[in-house]
Amino acid sequence: MAKIFCIANQKGGVGKTTTSVNLAAGLAQIGQRVLVVDLDPQGNATMGSGIDKRQLELTVYDVLLESASIAEARQRSDKAGYDVIGANRELAGAEVELVQLERRDQRLKAALASVAGDYDFVLIDCPPSLSLLTLNGLCAAHGVVVPMQCEYFALEGLSDLVNTIKQVHANLNPELQIIGLLRVMFDARITLQQQVSEQLKAHFGEKVFNTVIPRNVRLAEAPSYGLPGVVFDPQSKGALAFVEFAREMVVRIESLR
Ligand code: ADP
Ligand code: MG
Repeated sequence: MAKIFCIANQKGGVGKTTTSVNLAAGLAQIGQRVLVVDLDPQGNATMGSGIDKRQLELTVYDVLLESASIAEARQRSDKAGYDVIGANRELAGAEVELVQLERRDQRLKAALASVAGDYDFVLIDCPPSLSLLTLNGLCAAHGVVVPMQCEYFALEGLSDLVNTIKQVHANLNPELQIIGLLRVMFDARITLQQQVSEQLKAHFGEKVFNTVIPRNVRLAEAPSYGLPGVVFDPQSKGALAFVEFAREMVVRIESLR
């Protein structure tokens, strides 16, 4: 049965999408069956997996409004090695439409139940907000992976996310937990980053993943080729780090099974 994870952080540009597609590609590379759900109307995870968001007939929008099933809406990314439920600008309207519907926060969970046997991992790339879309992700998930940059304000932003996760855990999804914090875009030469990294470990202990994702330009270049960095340049430092992270995730979730 699939284990479902949100890649979430309400800040934009912190590496959520990069983590989603590269963790997915890394997991695929070590033999895991993976589905990526793009929950961001920007559709970056869709494009970064080599699927043209403008050509999609069915997206996560149709899944949330129950006009399509996951099985109907999923696309195979052959190069990346995993399946994708795509998103595009249409999804921005879903927020308003969902508000009026029943079980508005449980739609994704219900849809994913029908394909739980098809995958080992479902990774949900969340938008940069704590919106109804993100709430659908959090209600569907077993856990949250939080990518973060080791910057001065990083810890401050984290408390809002941690509080939201606690609320969802208490009221909507008792299974939900933080799986771990992933340090991304890390530059060991910058003293401040090392200091924040130490603070993170002091505060969150084992919840901080051992793997650190370095700042690596190949990871930033890959999306323009419609590929995760792990596939675009497998020997780059960024790609190797994400495959390492995929291995760490597999080990870490053993304890959840
Ligand atoms: P989010 O989804 O949180 O908005 P993205 O994953 O889109 O963040 O990353 C923001 C920007 O940073 C993108 O241009 C991406 O290519 C770049 N980026 C992400 N991770 C790295 C990294 N480890 N090294 C270099 N650039 C990165
Ligand atoms: Mg993104």
